[in-house]
Formats: sequence, structure tokens, C-alpha cells
Amino acid sequence: MADERLLDDLAGIVGAANVLTDAADLAPHLVDWRGRYRGRARCLVKPGATGEVAAVVRRCVAERVPMLPQGGNTGLVGGGTPDDSGGTVIISLARMRRIREVDPVNFTLTAEAGCLLREVQTAAEEADRLFPLSLAAEGSCQIGGNLSTNAGGVHVLRYGNMRELTLGLEVVLPDGSIWEGLRALRKDNTGYDLKQLFIGAEGTLGVITAAVLKLFPRPRAQAVAWLAVPAPAAAVELLSSMRSEFGDRVTAFEIIAASALELVLVHIPGAVQPLADPRAWQVLVELSDTAGDRALSGALETMLAGAMEAGAVEDAVVAQSGAQAQALWKLRESISEAQRIEGFSIKHDISVPVSRIAGFLESAEPRLREAFGQVRIVAFGHIGDGNLHYNLSRPAGLDNDEFIAQTPLVNRIVHDLVVELGGSISAEHGLGQLKRDEIRRYKSPTELDLMRALKRALDPAGLMNPGKLL
Ligand SMILES: Cc1cc2nc3c(=O)[nH]c(=O)nc-3n(C[C@H](O)[C@H](O)[C@H](O)COP(=O)(O)OP(=O)(O)OC[C@H]3O[C@@H](n4cnc5c(N)ncnc54)[C@H](O)[C@@H]3O)c2cc1C
Repeated sequence: MADERLLDDLAGIVGAANVLTDAADLAPHLVDWRGRYRGRARCLVKPGATGEVAAVVRRCVAERVPMLPQGGNTGLVGGGTPDDSGGTVIISLARMRRIREVDPVNFTLTAEAGCLLREVQTAAEEADRLFPLSLAAEGSCQIGGNLSTNAGGVHVLRYGNMRELTLGLEVVLPDGSIWEGLRALRKDNTGYDLKQLFIGAEGTLGVITAAVLKLFPRPRAQAVAWLAVPAPAAAVELLSSMRSEFGDRVTAFEIIAASALELVLVHIPGAVQPLADPRAWQVLVELSDTAGDRALSGALETMLAGAMEAGAVEDAVVAQSGAQAQALWKLRESISEAQRIEGFSIKHDISVPVSRIAGFLESAEPRLREAFGQVRIVAFGHIGDGNLHYNLSRPAGLDNDEFIAQTPLVNRIVHDLVVELGGSISAEHGLGQLKRDEIRRYKSPTELDLMRALKRALDPAGLMNPGKLL
């Protein structure tokens, strides 16, 4: 009875067509992208405006009903999947998809949280500006999800992650009040920087409904190359030389182990090996410039010729057209999808200082081999940010259940090493459910207590995305 009343009231707020209770409608919202977490929910509501989000939250709080803000559901740590109590109301931002303002002179754009990342990139482009956040899920993930996970992607090296790309936020707080913080200022020293509380909070402190994002000048020229390097240490040295020579024009620098490329070649139709000879370690580099055109590719070719002579690069192909550049990027961006098709993998999203990346790779594999004998490492990632996706796929000859059972010990070995090297066990995906317990081993009690105190202050009833992050 109470349940029916709640559903009626929610329908009164957002319209009956925007309250989903049917099992088939709910199904895609109850499982994460990797198919690793599954839950149940009372219903999914789709508010169309900030006031409606606030009214939905207030109604849920009155009944002490847990809420889960959900974006494109592409998150990789189970942060957007409900628990299995069946009591959760999922708040989907999918209808809040308006670009409220583009201010090309202020280099800012104000978007509602349900805008797809790609829609925001396109709106910026139409104003001859760049919104630089870029990741393989950009056609499905939403700005609210990007903010709530502090998404990174392939251009952090030059432009920063979501924290650095955000000037203001509008948030519905866990009591249903609205924090109107949509400031478009680069300078504002009027106390605590509250927006940073909500960025990376994974929906545990409120529902983000809109944001003011930073725009940049649009590059007029780009040069993209795929290289083979003798070892990760050589890649890191090359990155340093490139940054010294090209400065901010180095906009991406990604490392790809042969094992990762191999999965793409096997599982992604149309994927072609870019170099004549497959090598153990490869790099995808992108330079961008707001001026000039051919000069950039020429400068890259000259630099790479010198690096090849010095033995720092073994082989290289520089894209000769936009289509070739896109084909090289597609190889890199298809790795997660190829790994999903391959089957279960033990994933790590780690970061260490860039100067310690090679040390991490040199130590991690022997430690894992010592513990397990056989391992199959599929490493790739944003080496320019010190961020590696250091994943393990099932070795041939090992049963799936036996492999899955290795997860805790594999995590222990990898994460202990990361922390020994001054790194983080979650560089860009967040904690969600996947690393909620693991983080307790690595964060100090003081830091955890501070996080819990913030959660209690904003959400004393613990109704906003419970069981995630903390
Ligand atoms: C193929 C692939 C490649 C990826 N590559 C990258 C990458 O390079 N870099 C990277 O950082 N991530 C990457 N991701 C992870 C993922 O795309 C990002 O985490 C993305 O930012 C999640 O956005 P979403 O809209 O799908 O959020 P969801 O998955 O729906 O939600 C993620 C979290 O944010 C919360 N949330 C969502 N919307 C809101 C809101 N409006 N208010 C409050 N909380 C909210 C949810 O409760 C949940 O905790 C990748 C994922 C895939 C599938």
C-alpha cells in the first residue's frame, strides 16, 4: 500500500510515463557494463528538471527510501548498480539533456547532467571550441556520471580530468534542497570549494543536475603516430623528451602491451596490426596545435627519426590522414570491449608517479609469476598520467573458477606494490562496490574518518547511493 502511494506520488512529480516498474524496462539498469554486479530496484524515475529531481528526493527521504543516481551506466566499479534489497529508487538523469548555455568568449558551456559526453563535445565544436574529455564510452556516458566518477580518459595529460574541467555545479542534496553553484568563474576565493566535494563522490552526496564546464581553443592540426618501443622505460623517456620539445602540444600518450593489441585484433572486426612486426610494447602518441597543419606531422616525423636512430623507438607509423589517425585511435579505444568479449578479467586501474611506471611494470610481473606461475597480463593505459589498466586475463589451461578465485591475492600483490610506489589503487574509475572494502587497507583512518564525517554531514540518513564508496 505504502509502495503504491510512493509510486503514485513519484508519478505525480515526473509523469506516469517516467516511472518504470516493468521488469523488462528495469533490466538494463540493474546490471553494470561488465555484467559483474546485479541488483534490484523498486522503480526507476526520470525527472525532466532540477525541481523534479528535488521533489523526488524529498519524497524518498520522507519514506526513508534509498536512492541511486544513474547516468549512462558505463561505470566500471559497480557504483551505479543498486543493491539486491529491491527497495531502491533509481533516479535516471536521461531526460535532463539540455545544453543550457555556450559562452565562447568565457570559454564555458553549461550542460544538464543527462547530456551524453559526445553531445557536449559536439555543442562545443559547433561554437568552434573544444571540450577535451574523451573516453571510449563517450557515446553512452553522461556528464553527471563523468563528474561523479571524476572521469579521466585520454587527454588528461594536457587538459586534466573532470575536476580540472569544471567551474560550477548544480546539485540536489540528500535532503532535497538545491545547491545552486553554477558559477562560470576561474577565480572565486569565497571559502570552501564545494563543487569538488561532489566531483568523484559517485552519487553518495547528492544528485548532480547541471555543470559549468571549461572549453578550450579547438586544435587546427593533429599528428598521430603508433610506435614500438623497446621497453616501458623507453616510453617514459620518450614522453619526457616529447614534452620538452612539444610542450602542451602533446595531448595524448598511451601505452599498449602486445597482449592488449592482440585481443583487439582477435575480437574487433576490421582491426589491423599497425606495424609490420608486432612488438611487446607500443605507444600511441597524439600532438595537437591550434595553428599550422603539415608542420606538426613533419616535426613529429623528424623527432621520431632521431629517436629511432638513438634506439629509443624501434618502429613507427605516422598517420597520413584523418582516417588513418582514427583507425589508430580505434585500436586503442577497442581494448576494453575486446577484453570484455574475451571473458572475465581481474582489472586494476592504478596510478603511480610517471617516473615509477617502468618500476611498477618491472616488479609486478615477477611478483605475480612467483605467486601463480602462469599469468596473462593485459596492460595498457594513460602512461602520460601515470595511469595503467593493469588487467589479468585467464591463462590458457586454467579453469575460469580457479582464475576468479585468484582475485583477492592478485589484488593484494598489485595494490600493495602500487602503494609502495606512492600510487593509487583507483586512478579514474572510482571505488563503487569493487574497491569499497579494498580502500580501507590503503587510506589512513584519519582520511577515512574525514570522508565518513562528510557523508554524515550531508546525508545523515545514509539514503544517497548506500553501500558505495564507503
Ligand atoms: C569502454 C569503456 C571505456 C571507458 N574508458 C574510461 C576512461 O578512459 N576513463 C575513465 O575515467 N572512465 C572510463 N570508463 C568508465 C566510465 O565510462 C566512466 O566512469 C563514466 O564517467 C561513467 O559515466 P556514466 O554516465 O555511465 O555513469 P554511471 O555508470 O551511470 O554512474 C557512475 C557513478 O556515478 C554516479 N552518478 C551518475 N550520474 C550521476 C549524477 N547525475 N549525480 C550524481 N551521481 C551520479 C552513479 O551513482 C555511479 O556511482 C570507461 C567505460 C567503458 C565502458
